[in-house]
Amino acid sequence: MEKDKEKTGRLYSMRIRLFVLLLILTLGFITVAGLVIRNSFRSAAIENRKEKISNQCVQLAGQIVEAGVIYSGMTPRVEESLVQMAEDYSGRALVISSSGLVKFDTASVDTSKYLLDTRVLQALNGKKNIEWNNTNENILLAMPLVGSNSGEIIGVLAFSSSAADIGALMGKTNNVILSVYIIMIVTAIAAILLLCNMVVRPFKQMGDSIRKVGSGLQTGMDQPRCKETTEIVSAFNVLLDHMNQQDQLRAQFVSNVSHELKTPITSMRVLADSLLSMPDAPIELYQDFMKDISSEIDREAKIISDLLELVKMDNSAEKLNIQTVAINDWLKDILHRLAPIAKKQNVDMVMESFRDVTAGIDPSKLSLAVSNLVENAVKYNVDKGYVHVSLNADHKDFFIKVEDNGVGIPESDLDKIFDRFYRVDKARSRDAGGTGLGLAITKSVVQMHKGDIKVYSKAGEGTTFSVRIPLQYKE
Ligand code: ADP
Repeated sequence: MEKDKEKTGRLYSMRIRLFVLLLILTLGFITVAGLVIRNSFRSAAIENRKEKISNQCVQLAGQIVEAGVIYSGMTPRVEESLVQMAEDYSGRALVISSSGLVKFDTASVDTSKYLLDTRVLQALNGKKNIEWNNTNENILLAMPLVGSNSGEIIGVLAFSSSAADIGALMGKTNNVILSVYIIMIVTAIAAILLLCNMVVRPFKQMGDSIRKVGSGLQTGMDQPRCKETTEIVSAFNVLLDHMNQQDQLRAQFVSNVSHELKTPITSMRVLADSLLSMPDAPIELYQDFMKDISSEIDREAKIISDLLELVKMDNSAEKLNIQTVAINDWLKDILHRLAPIAKKQNVDMVMESFRDVTAGIDPSKLSLAVSNLVENAVKYNVDKGYVHVSLNADHKDFFIKVEDNGVGIPESDLDKIFDRFYRVDKARSRDAGGTGLGLAITKSVVQMHKGDIKVYSKAGEGTTFSVRIPLQYKE
């Protein structure tokens, strides 16, 4: 109980769990997507800038070589182009000779100095390099100047450009991404809330419906408008129907029991009252009436003992006392016990065994079941009729057949004869001392043995009951 209470806490709410899970997933996805977009945008901007600088430097390198800047000095046209480019890209251009002497510097800082750093040396070896320096946020380029006739490397054009404007652009982009991020998160939260409600609603509806059924306001659960929960609701409604049927059967049974128990008592009361109203009644009449009262007492006792037997079988805790039994002898004993009844009714009783059978059964319970069948075959028989009992088996089951040529059972009654208190001919059953519980007990015992029972009958011709029981009882 305490545990159930705990599980109704917020942490156990399916909606909250789903919400948190989806929120984490969505936040993660949006954040990663935002970072990827931001970084690729930045990389694209840098690559674009590098490409532009590189293309322009190729053109300038051509002009420098053509104007002979390395050997004859700077010309006004080339200088203008270099200064213009340095301005355009907030950078600085240097023309360096093959010996490392700075021939021209747009910033006029290193002119006539020697500059032989790694990049310049690589360029002098014929390798053009252009790279992005993340720390200073600038682009550094060094490309060889190749003599137009000789094909020799006569110098290097070095260019450095501050890309701080890209950083500034990224700052703006970050703001845009952040705004989109916030909008997406708000939208995602709204969508997730909606989704969680949609998922949880059918369960809530089911809970409300079950509560209504429990408080008797409804006989069945409403079908939620959701395909997935329809199956659960249908199964619940089937269970509910079954429980209602069981309830009805139980009520019917209680009413039948009361009626059956009252009948002998009413007869006894009538008999006793009639005797009391006749104070001068002859002793023979007393004896006659007392005989009737005694047989009513027997009937009452039989109903009670049959009822107790049935109740015991209904109790699922009731276990079978399985023993290995030689079925042929066991069956012979039952018939031997019932022989006097058959004789009294002038009914011929025969047993036929097709093979020796040994099986695991509860002998006392199963003998009750078989006795009921044989007794019925005698009770509902005709004068000089017969009862034929046969025993057979295959590798899995054994079969007992009880066949008679008695009054038979009309087809319309066949499916009801195993019901408690059901009797085809009430008067005949009563005269024969029946309670209407015999076949119900027999069926219960057979089912407890995991077997089955079938009936074939034709009114006026006779009846055959066929029982199948597994040779080995399995729990
Ligand atoms: P009862 O105590 O009345 O015999 P059962 O449950 O044993 O109750 O049988 C139910 C009804 O089935 C009987 O009342 C009878 O009408 C019918 N019945 C059972 N066995 C036979 C049979 N061998 N031949 C004809 N009718 C039978």
